[in-house]
Amino acid sequence: MQKEDFVKLCRTLSISQDHTLSAQVLPVVQKYRNNLPDYKLPVIWLETNDSGDNNIAFMNTTYPYLGQVLTDMIDLLYSNTFMAAQGKEALYKLDQAANRLSGKFTLVVEGAIPTGENGLYTMIARTENRNITALEAVLWLGPLAQNVIALGTCASFGGVSAARPNITGSVGISSILQREVINVSGCPVNPDWFVGTLAHLLMYGRPELDSLGRPTLFYGFTVHRHCQRRSYFDSGQFAEKLGDVECMFSLGCMGPRTGADCPYRQWINHVSWPVKANTPCIGCTNKDFPDGSSPFFTPLPEKSSPANNDGQPESPALKGAENVTEENNV
Ligand code: SF4
Repeated sequence: MQKEDFVKLCRTLSISQDHTLSAQVLPVVQKYRNNLPDYKLPVIWLETNDSGDNNIAFMNTTYPYLGQVLTDMIDLLYSNTFMAAQGKEALYKLDQAANRLSGKFTLVVEGAIPTGENGLYTMIARTENRNITALEAVLWLGPLAQNVIALGTCASFGGVSAARPNITGSVGISSILQREVINVSGCPVNPDWFVGTLAHLLMYGRPELDSLGRPTLFYGFTVHRHCQRRSYFDSGQFAEKLGDVECMFSLGCMGPRTGADCPYRQWINHVSWPVKANTPCIGCTNKDFPDGSSPFFTPLPEKSSPANNDGQPESPALKGAENVTEENNV
């Protein structure tokens, strides 16, 4: 399959009857691997300062399922979350993998990096003789990796871990590495965004990235663009309360300034997403999430100046809705 066809497949198939990315990606990956039977993408995965939501999302991948990703697509060399080894044995495997595959492995970092107190807020390894902070691990492994993926919004931009008052000094990994990072943001990430990025790296190398370093395959359009309630927005019909069928811009929906394909990719085995489940998009893939989305359930024009309205939306008629511009391609 040509790269252009793969990109087209990723961008369009969820609108097709199939509704899945991976049902079609896996056979392509397997076909590709028939020509390189011993090759899988070598991965070192660090979990740092986060809630673990992204590895849980990843474990819920469908078509391919988790076992298929681990057996057919990636060679998971080290993971302080998934591996059975602990302590010195685990650290030995990390050292061994980093040395043996220097310049060839993909580093996946899940979680923000606390920089306060020289990184002491998060340790990824602790043995009798050696303690390694997340900060130290990323500074060590980042330059050795062929590719670096920031998995989730905390790793990409700091996310919830860096929300005010951010006493740990948490940052996204781009802030501490002097190299390109592929940001697969989301809180949590949709499994397709991560598995699709791995598939692209495996078959074609680095995917095209947007201005925030995210694969345009999945983040190239705003949520607003393909939202099922878009016609209500365009005709000026806004919900007054949760459960109303109209556009939820009035209830603080961040769809107009959030890049992601949630309306047609959908979640939980591709069956639903926030707006379909009657709750506004809170902009979890954005660089300024969650502070930039706060207070939740407040319309966009008021979010940036909450003091002006005493915490109350001015009007469901939405002064400012007509001025909404989409930050990604419209
Ligand atoms: S503002 Fe939100 S609910 Fe309204 S059309 Fe846009 S994405 Fe959908």
